[in-house]
Amino acid sequence: MKISRRDFLRLSALGLGSALATACGLDEKLLTPSPTAQPTHTHLPPTQVPPLATATSPSEILHSMGFDAFEGKVQTHQDDYYLYVESDGMPDHPLMIGIKSWQQQVPLPQFYTGNNAWRIPLNPVLAEQPLSAKNNLYRGAIALAVNGVPIFNALNNRGDDAYLAGELDEYGGHSGRADDYHYHVAPLHLEEVVGPNSPIAYALDGFPIYGSTEPDGSPLAELDEYNGHFDAHGQYHYHGTSTYPYINGGMRGIVEVRDDQIDPQPQTVPIRPFLQPLRGATITDFQELGDESYSLEYQINGQKAYVNYRVSGNTYIFEFLDSSGNITTESYTRKG
Ligand SMILES: [Zn+2]
Ligand SMILES: [Zn+2]
Repeated sequence: MKISRRDFLRLSALGLGSALATACGLDEKLLTPSPTAQPTHTHLPPTQVPPLATATSPSEILHSMGFDAFEGKVQTHQDDYYLYVESDGMPDHPLMIGIKSWQQQVPLPQFYTGNNAWRIPLNPVLAEQPLSAKNNLYRGAIALAVNGVPIFNALNNRGDDAYLAGELDEYGGHSGRADDYHYHVAPLHLEEVVGPNSPIAYALDGFPIYGSTEPDGSPLAELDEYNGHFDAHGQYHYHGTSTYPYINGGMRGIVEVRDDQIDPQPQTVPIRPFLQPLRGATITDFQELGDESYSLEYQINGQKAYVNYRVSGNTYIFEFLDSSGNITTESYTRKG
């Protein structure tokens, strides 16, 4: 299928009105946030299950939390309740390559900073009634990887496994409707960076997610339906696995949910209308050319095509080079 400029504009127009929904790129429910909904900032009560009992100083806590392995990519600070994690959501590994079910979104640096930073509860509390991700939390992130990349539900909103559906790159990620890169499975590749005794991610309830072994390096013990279990000290944690649920299979800890999305969490604001799936396309290369300039290559009907784009301040310039050699350009300005 070829996308003419007219088609492109028509498809783009279909995406208007999606602004402000923090939604994955594929088959999201189009929920319009209630204009009266105000984020609440309820501080969590003291923990029943101290997750960091062995750490004694703030620097030790940060070290044990795993984020310090990505110093420079992520910035952290904390108060009594939260670890605040700032990032641009762009990983430092190859991305997008291998996606076979592509919605034409690309990775753009995000603004997970200041009031829009990630918040990891430092004192997670077990919920009396855990929330399963099988039929909840189809919008927004459910966890944050220690490299500053968010992790969404492993299921898209048809209930399909995003990984098995070919929607993900070889690192388990893709870009959502706000051109926001995120994973849908556990970033087990981070194990090599952080080692077995540090988490690779945190669920947004605050409980850590370890890799494919126990923190002491021993083989993985039996997991519950949320992909977690209690350790010998009675502390709960999750694990990443290579099969469903891949990541935390829900929230074993207390979270606040609003419109099927955990709240608070950063907002992603689209800078352009979202696009539609491009049937038959496979992403074959992605290059960061430096200075916030990128080139995504895909193949369709045996032909190569490209999306080249760059960010210059608040301006985003896209050049679409289709498989017939037609070039169209689009320019968008980020507001705020
Ligand atoms: Zn997604
Ligand atoms: Zn474990």
